[in-house]
Amino acid sequence: MSKKVSDYFACDVFNDEVMKARLPKPVYKAMTKTRKMGTPLDPTYADVVANAIKDWAIEHGATHYTHWFQPMTGSTAEKHDSFISPTDNDMIIMNFSGKELVKGEPDASSFPSGGLRQTCSARGYTAWDPTSYCFVKEGSLYIPTVFVSYTGEALDKKTPLLRSMDALSQQAIRILRLFGNTTTTKVTSTVGPEQEYFLIDKKMYDKREDLIMTGRTLFGAMPPKGQELEDQYFANLKPRIAAFMSDLDETLWKLGIFATTKHNEVAPAQHEMAPVFSTTNISTDQNELAMEVMEKVALKHGLVCLLHEKPFAGVNGSGKHNNWSMGTNDGQNLLDPGSTPMENMQFLTFLCAVIKGIDEYTDLLRISASSAGNDHRLGANEAPPAIISIFMGEELQGVLDALESGTSYKSESKVFEIGVDALPDFPKDSTDRNRTSPFAFTGNRFEFRMVGSSDNIGCPNYLLNSIVAEELSEIADQMESVPAEQFDDELKKLLVSIIKNHKRVIFNGNGYSQEWVEEAEKRGLPNYRSTVDCVPHMSDEKNIALLSKFGVLSKAEVDARVEILLDNYAKTINIEALTMIDMAKKKYIPTCVSYTKELCDSIAAKNSLEICACVEKDLAEKVSSLTKQSYEATAKLEEVTAAAAAKKDCVPEVAKAYRYEVIPVMDELRAAVDALEVITPSEKWPVPAYSDIIFNV
Ligand code: ADP
Ligand code: MG
Repeated sequence: MSKKVSDYFACDVFNDEVMKARLPKPVYKAMTKTRKMGTPLDPTYADVVANAIKDWAIEHGATHYTHWFQPMTGSTAEKHDSFISPTDNDMIIMNFSGKELVKGEPDASSFPSGGLRQTCSARGYTAWDPTSYCFVKEGSLYIPTVFVSYTGEALDKKTPLLRSMDALSQQAIRILRLFGNTTTTKVTSTVGPEQEYFLIDKKMYDKREDLIMTGRTLFGAMPPKGQELEDQYFANLKPRIAAFMSDLDETLWKLGIFATTKHNEVAPAQHEMAPVFSTTNISTDQNELAMEVMEKVALKHGLVCLLHEKPFAGVNGSGKHNNWSMGTNDGQNLLDPGSTPMENMQFLTFLCAVIKGIDEYTDLLRISASSAGNDHRLGANEAPPAIISIFMGEELQGVLDALESGTSYKSESKVFEIGVDALPDFPKDSTDRNRTSPFAFTGNRFEFRMVGSSDNIGCPNYLLNSIVAEELSEIADQMESVPAEQFDDELKKLLVSIIKNHKRVIFNGNGYSQEWVEEAEKRGLPNYRSTVDCVPHMSDEKNIALLSKFGVLSKAEVDARVEILLDNYAKTINIEALTMIDMAKKKYIPTCVSYTKELCDSIAAKNSLEICACVEKDLAEKVSSLTKQSYEATAKLEEVTAAAAAKKDCVPEVAKAYRYEVIPVMDELRAAVDALEVITPSEKWPVPAYSDIIFNV
């Protein structure tokens, strides 16, 4: 019997429909106002809501509840408490108070705070975020929360995101008022994250210590075939993958996640899932949940879902396209150019604010996509380069050029003719696609393509929101005092000056080319190649000024994030280096030593034909020489890793040492081992090869 999606969609979510049915009218109304407008909920209602949520959750199989939050490191965090409380006769009743819904105090001293909190004063509070729905999963009620310190500092990724959404709304409304809009009361940033991932067989995964410890392969020679035929992209789905994807859809839909697009991606074993966009807050929560569900559903199918940015060298890695826009509570997309963008001054104002913001804060955007994993992608000709630029597309570029030069702009006819009589002609999009741009206008939104596949999208979005809020606020500051009769002329002047001063950040060409790297340098656009080069700039004065102006992050909160990002980078590379050492010593070197010995024994026994002995001798020499190289590189890697770890008092120095002293030796060791892999019989090789892993599902 087939199940209708509409019958079970969001069945595990305490959403608007459930609230309407279960809450007393005034409480429901107050909750709706809180969710939609951000007005605080009357504290006396909290008990009523808590009771309704508890009853609903128990009916849906929950025995526990958890405050679910997003600490500064890793993915989400949860600690479960049961609803049970003892009665006088040693039985139980199920209890849940408003206080328990609204506030929690996990003993959270082990979460890194980047110096915001000393271990001895470890209080951290979780506080309910009523703008994102509660849901039931695996017998627990999940309550989305923020996580803050005793002194109110943000210890998570959600708090700055919520603060930035408020800031953007306030500033965007100032702009809307300038254009005579008196009805909009809230502007919300929206995002649709396209999630890339790999699926591999669990049996292969279990045999690779590197995948288990680090989420990526640290060794592995390229198989004869990689992705050059591009025959995986949009290819039909193999039965096992199709079964996984439909199980994934069903699980996500039950959790109210609007999973809508699924397809095979470019690299062998790579795939993508995209949901329908939502507010940046809800989308961030749902993306975190989606990643968790993907990993769990994969296991049910004997598969492992790899969310790492670069699980396999030599083929594409995975990113997360962050499609971002701003919408009003009365349904207007503020980045929709409409049919006549040249006349749409409101759209051009928002567009220019984005252009100026991206140019002034390229470093922040680059930082928001920085991690040890993503360093393998950015600038490696498979993902956008590490240089931030904006792709505008032909039509909008024409509009901006016309505005700048004071000429008029005529839209071209936009009918797309296929040239087959039976097929209908259809309207052409106003922009073509440019895959090579890190920040591309795609019709009614910007697609920020640098974000890593495993990243929490909170950070790129709170930075984007803050940057644009700042630019809108500057425009509003200038324009609010201009008399109505001069408004059009003054605004035009302002937009022209923005275009003139910031057009260097617009680039419509091939972002993968070497010419662009040179051109960008001439334009003065930064090119931070790695995490350690760019992350410290988050604490630059102009960035602190931006983030503290709207209360998104204070200086202490920014400094904490810098420290945590760099510390996490150093720890990640440290684990990778130690895993390589372990694998080299326990697997590759012993295998190659015994293979060399086998060859030498055979030569010594003189029982081979002369010609074979010759081959054996040649092989023995190659294997033993590469084994020696591997052995020496392992020893060197032990040395540099220990030296990097020894710098422990200064986090930026440690991170730099891992980047510049440790990674080159890791590369050296890998090259020697990979060269051994291609001349060693496959049955002797101690781990599955790339061809066994990525062509095997
Ligand atoms: P692509 O063609 O780039 O692969 P997809 O259809 O896979 O596009 O994904 C596009 C994403 O952009 C979807 O998640 C979609 O919901 C999202 N999106 C569409 N409109 C908006 C908007 N106004 N704001 C934010 N995201 C949007
Ligand atoms: Mg895309």
